[in-house]
Amino acid sequence: MTKNVIVVGGGLGGLSSACTLAARGHKVRLLEANDWVGGKAAILEQDGYRFDMGPTILTLPRVLERIFAEAGRRLEDYLDLRRLDPQWRCFFEDGSVLDLDQDVDDMATRLSEYASEADARGYRAFMTVSERLHEISEKFFFWRSIEDLLDTFDGRTTFKLSTLRDVLDLRMGRTVAGTIRDRVSDHRVAQMLDHFTQYVGSSPYGSPAVLCGIAHMQTEEGVWYPMGGTRAVPLALEKLAIELGVEIETGTEVRSIQSSNGRATGVKLANGRVRAADAVVSNMDSVRTHKELLPREAGKQFLGRRRYKPACSGVVLYLGLNRRYEHLAHHNFVFSKDPEEEFEHIYTKGQTAPDPTCYLAAPSCTEPEVAPPGGEALYVLVHTPHLRPGHDWSEMLPEYRQRIIEKLKTCGGMPDIEDRIVSEAVLTPQDIHDRYRVLDGAIYGLASHGRFMGAFKPGNRSRDVANLYLAGGSAHPGPGMPMALMSGWIAGDALDADAKTRQVVSPREAAA
Ligand SMILES: Cc1cc2nc3c(=O)[nH]c(=O)nc-3n(C[C@H](O)[C@H](O)[C@H](O)COP(=O)(O)OP(=O)(O)OC[C@H]3O[C@@H](n4cnc5c(N)ncnc54)[C@H](O)[C@@H]3O)c2cc1C
Repeated sequence: MTKNVIVVGGGLGGLSSACTLAARGHKVRLLEANDWVGGKAAILEQDGYRFDMGPTILTLPRVLERIFAEAGRRLEDYLDLRRLDPQWRCFFEDGSVLDLDQDVDDMATRLSEYASEADARGYRAFMTVSERLHEISEKFFFWRSIEDLLDTFDGRTTFKLSTLRDVLDLRMGRTVAGTIRDRVSDHRVAQMLDHFTQYVGSSPYGSPAVLCGIAHMQTEEGVWYPMGGTRAVPLALEKLAIELGVEIETGTEVRSIQSSNGRATGVKLANGRVRAADAVVSNMDSVRTHKELLPREAGKQFLGRRRYKPACSGVVLYLGLNRRYEHLAHHNFVFSKDPEEEFEHIYTKGQTAPDPTCYLAAPSCTEPEVAPPGGEALYVLVHTPHLRPGHDWSEMLPEYRQRIIEKLKTCGGMPDIEDRIVSEAVLTPQDIHDRYRVLDGAIYGLASHGRFMGAFKPGNRSRDVANLYLAGGSAHPGPGMPMALMSGWIAGDALDADAKTRQVVSPREAAA
């Protein structure tokens, strides 16, 4: 049965929901407060340089393929994706450099030379665990609305021996850092493997072992660069949405989600106009949706169930350089000396790390057009705590920028970088907070901390308001481009399934 659906927010989750729902025959209107769609996947063009402003590493293109397949379309007709190998290049304080190869055998050979035979074996053992955790994630967490452990099992499988084995293999109570260090003793290799959890903006010392599955997702499916930058992803989805008849309104802020008898009935806009709908998908941060858009009672129930904390934030420097650094790969990490100290500062103390890890994207090796000839559009991301009281980034930035530049000069092998900058822009945690309406400047939605519940996020089908669905990095299955996209698909799929079983009904229909 066709429903009129409003999607609040045009980030990757909102676009993915809109496309999925429109492909299934629903009438969809997407309302975005900013004057562009794509949310954090934005672009900055300045002085002949082009920077992706937010995400730069694209993994799991299969999720995008599935969204396009909903409409009978082929992803390759919309996006030109290039596979990158090595996936990352890692620079350490001792001056050594280690590439992460996509092929596990190649990587093990590399590690036996770089570290030791035992570390190479440890890496293989870690990847075996990672593969198993990926398999369990696919089976229990992905492609459906999940909020807690109970949701993951259905009556038919709960008492099967294989399910018990899956539960044991989840390594509940273990952390990512512990799982890695049980197998790998070289601290540099362990630090590199820790960084898969940086995709979810959480500390490997506080995140549940199940997140080790990210490593296998990446080696199996690759790291990809969309020509045109990651901005090409929302543009491709926007094109698909328009072809499918989605009405997109930018510059349109939603101030509240209207409800009656516990059912969402539409939205109220900043200009005071009300738009009726049979169902609403919110791509706004899930906590802020409940605090700011919904009636107090519905918000209270949601916020009372669990205390969600924001993931980390970050500072991004966009440096237009008049030279390229040939020693950089497309994706690079310039690592801190002491990861424990770094994570302790960011996640526990709520302070910037004294010696931060810098992630660098140097895309000109894949797409030279990002910079004037011979130049580089260097993107430097450093994770920081989410905004805490007293964080004033207009005061904090100058010193922190200098700390980052010093790190690049020394550990990153770019001693002349300061003289090479001809164009510069910056994104601070406060900018992230204001531009994308997130929780306390969080880059990656909600933190994944907690040895047992860390992997669980608010489900995509609201438990508090009927006809309301949640999509995006702060809803299940979590943050990062592929997960936010999957989240949008799940929200759309759940709504469509509910429409078919007549669970999505307007209050008028419900009363009849
Ligand atoms: C600096 C940075 C680097 C990152 N790097 C990577 C990376 O390399 N790889 C990766 O996979 N991920 C990365 N991420 C994370 C990734 O970008 C996000 O997880 C993903 O884009 C989030 O998508 P979303 O659907 O949650 O929407 P968001 O991008 O959060 O967009 C939500 C949209 O909703 C709109 N909105 C909110 N409230 C309202 C309202 N009331 N009315 C109307 N509109 C509203 C906002 O304006 C916004 O456009 C990075 C993010 C940042 C910021």
